[in-house]
Amino acid sequence: MPELFVGGRWVQARAGGRREIRCPADGTLVATLDEATAEDTGLAIAAARAAFDHGEWPTTSALERGALLHRVADRLVRDKPAVARAESLDTGKRYVESEYDVDDVVSVLRYYAGTAGEDAGRVVDTGRPDIVSRVGHEPVGVCGLITPWNYPLLQVAWKVAPALAAGCTFVLKPSELTPSTAILLMRILADVGLPAGVANLVLGAGSEVAAPLAEHPDVDLVSFTGGLATGRAVMAAAAGTVKKVALELGGKNPNIVFADAELDAALDLALTAVFLHSGQVCSAGARLVVAEEIHDQFVDELVARAEKIRLGGPFDPAAETGPLISAAHRDKIEEYVGAGVAAGARLRCGGGQPDDPGLAEGYYYLPTILDDCTSEMAVVQEESFGPVLTVETFTDEDDAVRIANDSRFGLAGAVWTSNAGRAERVAARLRMGTVWINDYHPYVPQAEWGGYKQSGIGRELGRAGLDEYRETKHIWHNIRPAPQHWFGS
Ligand code: NAD
Repeated sequence: MPELFVGGRWVQARAGGRREIRCPADGTLVATLDEATAEDTGLAIAAARAAFDHGEWPTTSALERGALLHRVADRLVRDKPAVARAESLDTGKRYVESEYDVDDVVSVLRYYAGTAGEDAGRVVDTGRPDIVSRVGHEPVGVCGLITPWNYPLLQVAWKVAPALAAGCTFVLKPSELTPSTAILLMRILADVGLPAGVANLVLGAGSEVAAPLAEHPDVDLVSFTGGLATGRAVMAAAAGTVKKVALELGGKNPNIVFADAELDAALDLALTAVFLHSGQVCSAGARLVVAEEIHDQFVDELVARAEKIRLGGPFDPAAETGPLISAAHRDKIEEYVGAGVAAGARLRCGGGQPDDPGLAEGYYYLPTILDDCTSEMAVVQEESFGPVLTVETFTDEDDAVRIANDSRFGLAGAVWTSNAGRAERVAARLRMGTVWINDYHPYVPQAEWGGYKQSGIGRELGRAGLDEYRETKHIWHNIRPAPQHWFGS
């Protein structure tokens, strides 16, 4: 069965290209899939345009759109083992984590199913009885959705759920490394009765297949999640048609620990913050910013625990985290660690590949801690997107905030302290879209997610995540028209 989904039909790539998908845990062949070209993307855009301009989806009631999203969620609950397995094979992540991801996908679908009809607009009080003035929402139109490989189906769901709830049509281009669950989602959308052309899927390399989504005049919005450099290219390409742009980019997120923190919890969560999914998380707490009076004790204990982390494949019940996505990605991380050490960072653990022969076929990298880091180092400033923790030390509250904000990114961060006043002061001063106090990583679909500074533009999740996919229209209705006599008589 061909794997591109265009205008409600499964079609083959025009140029007939194919791509092998291999599991990063051991290199086994997972699938050989269609590889599209810009021509296929153009056809998908035309299908989405026709479905938006002439189809019934944009004017289907919000209640019905929500009901469809619930049916998708129901199917994912039913098919969770198969979907989680596909996600683990593509990404190499532990099966249990893929199961959590499917649960989160279901939550976001149900959230937007319920939100779609809640806000139909408002009536404006103009102070004039002969005027009916109202502000309403309409779907933004055809959306180009471009997503990364680290949370493949989840990142897709953060876009597809609000896009459909708002009444948009879309062309989705998932990461070429992890397309399997996007294909499964398209099958489900077709099965539960989404009209043809509303959802379209193209597969392949971004520069060829995704670039038209940013450039094409028939696309009204491009919503992109991925790296900073690609985000810049998407934004520049979108400028040609002044289309709406939503960007969820990288982060280099500080995890600030004061001496009065609940240290057992802070230690435990500092490991989760950075080593979850081997650091391949946009909000990873990859910068530990720790009070100097507890630095030695805190970092010694972190190192002891990090050295015990068990690596393994998706179905290894003893594994605590998995491989990196590719050999090229591991090379990049090795370079960052090498550059950090060359710049004066002290390697406390990790810093290489595991010597376990059972892991030799996968792209594994040991949990790594670099101490004595400074904000000038590339390994502190740039997103390595791997299991690498850098450690910086602060003297007081102002110093902690200064160090934490010394970054081009502003996605997320955390502060650990038992002083509630200080927690609130620091949270208010951090220039980030999400701040956790005495916690790390949790999120809910009801709360907005996104970045300050170069971590992005716009928000996903929450009400603002729906607004990305809606235009706002003011309608002014004069119910007693009469001449004004400004000119003429
Ligand atoms: P990437 O930028 O390499 O690729 C992302 C997507 O863009 C892929 O589908 C890719 O094919 C496509 N692409 C590549 N070149 C393109 C071009 N010229 N035009 C349009 N699209 C193009 O990112 P990645 O390596 O897949 O993902 C990792 C990055 O994603 C990290 O930087 C991470 O922080 C970020 N991320 C951010 C969030 C967030 O919520 N802010 C969430 C997850 C991941």
